[in-house]
Amino acid sequence: MASKIKPQPGIMDIELYVGGASTLDGVSNVLKLSSNENPMGPSPAAKDAFSRAVHELHRYPSTDHAGLRTAIGEVWKLDPDRVICGVGSDEILHLMCQAFAGPGDEVIHTEHGFALYRISTLAAGATPVEVPEHDRLVDVDAILAAANKKTKLVFIANPANPTGTFLGNKDIARLAKGLPKQCILVLDGAYAEFVEGYDAGLALIEGRDNVVMTRTFSKIYGLGGMRVGWGYGPKNIIDVLNRIRGPFNMSSPALAAAEAAVRDTAYFEKCRSENARWRDWLSTALAELGVPSDTTTANFILARFGSEDEALACNEQLKSAGIIVRHPKNYGFPHCLRITVGDESACRRIVHAIGQFKGLRE
Ligand SMILES: *Cc1c(COP(=O)(O)O)cnc(C)c1O
Repeated sequence: MASKIKPQPGIMDIELYVGGASTLDGVSNVLKLSSNENPMGPSPAAKDAFSRAVHELHRYPSTDHAGLRTAIGEVWKLDPDRVICGVGSDEILHLMCQAFAGPGDEVIHTEHGFALYRISTLAAGATPVEVPEHDRLVDVDAILAAANKKTKLVFIANPANPTGTFLGNKDIARLAKGLPKQCILVLDGAYAEFVEGYDAGLALIEGRDNVVMTRTFSKIYGLGGMRVGWGYGPKNIIDVLNRIRGPFNMSSPALAAAEAAVRDTAYFEKCRSENARWRDWLSTALAELGVPSDTTTANFILARFGSEDEALACNEQLKSAGIIVRHPKNYGFPHCLRITVGDESACRRIVHAIGQFKGLRE
């Protein structure tokens, strides 16, 4: 007998999210370059704060996240009353869909956009609309052409994942201005801190009523295991999100670690400059091996191979050398491998392995 128990419409269209692998059968000394994690790990101050939080585990955490929001406000020079903290920026993206899109509404993401935009849209019962990109770059005109009176949200990551490409503030502003009045532009800034001089869309947010940014502690802050992200936007939008988030969504160790991390600006700068240095080194070295990539602004490189077969063969050889990268086939890049920028030894190790694959190294 067919079950009468059915989930809400849209939910069974969701394909399970696949994260970056972290183990290889039979290989020790695995080098994981598949999830854009910080090779230096979190700030020592964040680890200390986490350890100290152990003594208060019987206490409920704060519901208003005031300590972390204040620290974010001070460091990023923004209004802490318009910051919302979430279990990873994933939760903020999810709350945006839950609060602003439902059955009959459309949510735009782009051709190579992050998988979670579609998942959160379907989870809310809304309809995902995929818009083409232009040479691996988000296409503002294509998004504006697809937007209509049913469009409630537009998600773009800037820098984008898995391409690493970047849209300037002029283009983003044109997008925000051109959208229908009922539509919110969500700027996913998971990698914004890696771009020198980029304000992650802050000035645009302050001047408009339809732009929200999301940020994370999982990437440059090296706290992916803690699950901390945040959002920033107009007060009325943040108020809506606060009504539907769990009152105790953040654990106290996570709040403590993130607050210490955001205040350690010296460590942050060191992570940013190390990444920039090895990112440039890695992309140049790969190009010399005949593996091109777009100029990346993030902490990963989308390395292009001649064909899917070549990318797969390279991936196999990397695995046998104990190196895990991402094959972003489900993002429309069957002929590519996405490689996280590691530390110096990681970068040298993967360049050596790809050189061997290309027959250019012993
Ligand atoms: C990694 C990543 C995130 C961050 O997710 P968290 O839930 O904060 O760990 C968000 N968006 C994109 C595009 C990412 O690559």
